[in-house]
Amino acid sequence: TRWVYSFGGGGADGEAGMKNLLGGKGANLAEMAKLGLPVPPGFTVTTEACVHYYANGKQYPAELAEQVNAGLAKVEQITGKTFGDTANPLLVSVRSGARASMPGMMDTVLNLGLNDETVSGLAKLSGDERFAFDSYRRFIQMYSNVVLDLDHHMFEEILDDHKDSLGVSVDTALTADNWKAVVADYKTAVARELGRPFPQDPQEQLWGAIGAVFASWMNDRAKFYRRMHDIPEAWGTAVNIQSMVFGNMGDSSATGVAFTRNPSTGDNRLYGEFLINAQGEDVVAGIRTPQSLTKVAREEMGDVAPSMEEALPEVFGQFRDVAIKLEAHYRDMQDVEFTVEQGRLWMLQTRNGKRTAKAALKIAVEMAEGGVITREEAVARVEPAALDQLLHPTIDPSAERDVVAKGLPASPGAATGKVVFDADEAEKLGSAGEAVILVREETSPEDIHGMHAARGIITARGGMTSHAAVVARGMGRPCVSGAGEIGIYPKEGLFRVRGREFKAGDIVTIDGSTGEVLSGSVKMIEPELTGDFAQLMEWADGVRRLKVRANAETPLDAKTARGFGAEGIGLCRTEHMFFDDTRIAAVREMILADDEAGRRAALAKIAPFQKADFVELFTIMEGLPVTVRLLDPPLHEFLPHSEADLAAVAAATGLDAAKLMRRARELHETNPMLGHRGCRLGVSYPEIYEMQVRAIIEAACEIAKSGKPAPVPEIMHPLVAKGEEMKFLRALTDRTAKAVLAEQGVELEYQVGTMIELPRAALRAADLAEAGAEFFSFGTNDLTQTTFGISRDDAGKFLGAYIDKGIFEKDPFVSLDQEGVGDLVRIAAERGRAVKSGLKLGICGEHGGDPASIQFCEQVGLDYVSCSPFRVPIARLAAAQAAL
Ligand code: PEP
Ligand code: MG
Repeated sequence: TRWVYSFGGGGADGEAGMKNLLGGKGANLAEMAKLGLPVPPGFTVTTEACVHYYANGKQYPAELAEQVNAGLAKVEQITGKTFGDTANPLLVSVRSGARASMPGMMDTVLNLGLNDETVSGLAKLSGDERFAFDSYRRFIQMYSNVVLDLDHHMFEEILDDHKDSLGVSVDTALTADNWKAVVADYKTAVARELGRPFPQDPQEQLWGAIGAVFASWMNDRAKFYRRMHDIPEAWGTAVNIQSMVFGNMGDSSATGVAFTRNPSTGDNRLYGEFLINAQGEDVVAGIRTPQSLTKVAREEMGDVAPSMEEALPEVFGQFRDVAIKLEAHYRDMQDVEFTVEQGRLWMLQTRNGKRTAKAALKIAVEMAEGGVITREEAVARVEPAALDQLLHPTIDPSAERDVVAKGLPASPGAATGKVVFDADEAEKLGSAGEAVILVREETSPEDIHGMHAARGIITARGGMTSHAAVVARGMGRPCVSGAGEIGIYPKEGLFRVRGREFKAGDIVTIDGSTGEVLSGSVKMIEPELTGDFAQLMEWADGVRRLKVRANAETPLDAKTARGFGAEGIGLCRTEHMFFDDTRIAAVREMILADDEAGRRAALAKIAPFQKADFVELFTIMEGLPVTVRLLDPPLHEFLPHSEADLAAVAAATGLDAAKLMRRARELHETNPMLGHRGCRLGVSYPEIYEMQVRAIIEAACEIAKSGKPAPVPEIMHPLVAKGEEMKFLRALTDRTAKAVLAEQGVELEYQVGTMIELPRAALRAADLAEAGAEFFSFGTNDLTQTTFGISRDDAGKFLGAYIDKGIFEKDPFVSLDQEGVGDLVRIAAERGRAVKSGLKLGICGEHGGDPASIQFCEQVGLDYVSCSPFRVPIARLAAAQAAL
């Protein structure tokens, strides 16, 4: 097996296409060498060697040593230097390089090959003894830290002691002799800590560094990063061994990093930083303030220090040409690292640069318009989830952040306002035009008005699909949920966190995209949805097959959804209309009624509201499909819980307090999620669903009569499990609808369908289709809950442990479990369509806005996805990418 690939000297064994084997860095070094760019020669130990190493009890492949020596010999031949030679030593860098870039997560060793003898060789070669010993001490520190596992503080203390006794404050003030003394003390310290001297044999150093890079693949940082970015552990990392070039060899030497375009704005201008007389880690470490690359940038920044363009004009010109060449070659914005050694340019790395959503859009659109890439490529290049950054006001990246707590990034966007602990208070202040942030232990449906009135929501408990999170996303309200460190004391009107106290009325800011709670107000920037955004979305729409609808019930949500390009409503949760302050009294009256007649009387009061709501919704949607889901939550949710609240409600509504209490107790359920909810309500109290169907059809008739585009209402039944249920519900719906149509004298199409939220419904999908369901909408929130048997409201408490331990890769309430829940979706789609080939299929759980889940929906052949209004653009782009 071939474990080693060489590059440099005008050619390479590998190329850019071999990222899996050579890692991103190694593949691109090979590619640059092939392009004839100045790359210090070196070789790459493959990712397969790393995989082999871990698969074989941390043993290197047998042929590796021989191949590494051959690789080294080639580098010696190209450079004319020899590894370990005292007169003309070859020094190398040893760096990690995985398939996907994992910046800063793994280890690097520079200046390897230095020892007590080669350091003199380096001094002679460079004509600079100070430089040679400075390099040696850097090497000892880095190698001891990375390979020998010694604390770097120890070295910093020694250096500080030297500086103190010399009375100097900066490293540059140290002379060659000073560095020699530092080196001697470093070596003594290493020998003391280790019980053996610092390794002098370059071969030993080399294998130590290779081992350390392999080991760093398994360090905690790397593991964490992989989990965050879905990078499989099985990939392994490559190791790049490359001859050193020195940016710290005087004032005609420099080192820097650059982007071929501005990574935060996307502006087509070289952007970056460099330092004269420095080594790579100085730029990153932030010890010295780097200088601008270009003159324009320096002037804009108001820097005093000259730009590279001014300080090293000739080599800057070469660098600019290389940057242009690389971008044209890779057809994407590049992030490069370079070093200038005594006036000579060397390229150390290139890769596609990371960028903000704004920059991604601008770069993709400009490159497509310039004919560099196709429109499909442009669509493929923008990460859908990143669009979130653009859809909400966001915190100015340059603003200072005083983070007081961290929770889950439950609903993106940022908001500033006064702390309020009570939903009614939030509503009162909100309607008076005040910006408030509602802070709750957790939210319940009763808090909806307060959530709506608030600019943002914080909860101490609850996960990504908790009530607060789902509702906040639906409303486009920024929300931080499950910020467990916060202790809330509503009675005292304050919350405490990490020893700090925030009272009602204090100003806080939340960043729902990161989960941070910040003290005070922070500068924001507004979203802009025109220009590049609009252009890319238009291209995406031209590519996708899946339709994109929104989950919306309020007029505002519906308008927002349309503004974002929703092609209909896939889920209108009617219970949210029941919670409205003006109707809750009638709803409670209905719940308290002793018999059907009493219920019907109360329902008659709610009916006009329901109808008016639908008229408004249908009007906004202008003939687009609207799926209305009939009442779903258990009735007890509409009753107050505490005795005090019960009493207050009784007093306010004139309802009988004792009766209210008794009914609340009667309705109490041990396990309400599996209780008297969903269509079970419609089966026990058909009059509720009849009222709702009537309201829907009457509203549609009214629109039709007015000559406006009438919708085809899709009436949807929740939590159906059995064909017989569907049959009953279908008959109820048809009976009521036909009666209304006859009364109104209108001819109008409508459809009846079901949600698929229970494993039994998925397995027996054929029964449901046969019993008259014309469409299925996968309620994957409940389907995930019922498939795993994990409560969606309590999962936050323990899912973290599952994710930490790698049992779950992702929260299944956020990204669809494609194996288990996905199997049920696939089965239901197949079995349903086997009975009814034209069966319309959609998804309306939170997963409908998750790009990975949308990809799955495309594969299974669903007709549409439905998601929160603010996720509609994300879904449009994800659907397009899924179709490519
Ligand atoms: C679902 O269960 O996926 C769904 C959309 O319904 P709800 O979230 O209202 O239970
Ligand atoms: Mg549901």
